[in-house]
Amino acid sequence: MDELKKRILDFPTYIEPHADVLATLDMRSRYMTLSSIPKYRVGSDRFCLWCRSGAPLKHHARVYCGDNCKKSANMFCYPQSNTMKAYILIEFQQCACTLCGLSYEDRILRWIERKENRKGTEEWEIGPTMNILGYQLSAINEIDVDHKIPLHRGGIALGLDNIQAVCRQCHKDKTFAERKR
Ligand SMILES: [Zn+2]
Ligand SMILES: [Zn+2]
Repeated sequence: MDELKKRILDFPTYIEPHADVLATLDMRSRYMTLSSIPKYRVGSDRFCLWCRSGAPLKHHARVYCGDNCKKSANMFCYPQSNTMKAYILIEFQQCACTLCGLSYEDRILRWIERKENRKGTEEWEIGPTMNILGYQLSAINEIDVDHKIPLHRGGIALGLDNIQAVCRQCHKDKTFAERKR
């Protein structure tokens, strides 16, 4: 799986929010937006909105210390996104649906190989690759993000803890079974 990750240009390193940031978030909110996370200052210095560590931010327009924090904040707040779909499938599930075990690894590899053949071309550069991969999985291979514990049963909406990537049909079957209970 590490080999596969290395071949994806912008595979993110997920960074948890700083504990004080976490405390400001309503984990059950489906409609969380990044703009509701407070900017972090100490005196006249501004620090990364997400990890609150590292050196003070220099450029006036920056809110994150780097790309990983920016991506992590997006993934945390929008866990149903295409980027997240691809990320949890590869990072936590060895490319397989957690409900039926069907592997998507071959399909992901084929997609990466097609992209690699176009490396250096505009299409490869326009990335971010993870977002496009998630879109492909969703469109062609029918992958959904599912809440392990449904929100109406008290499951949390934000972050990575309560989500899994599953086949769309598995998702439908699970939801149907949950409604019947
Ligand atoms: Zn940061
Ligand atoms: Zn499945």
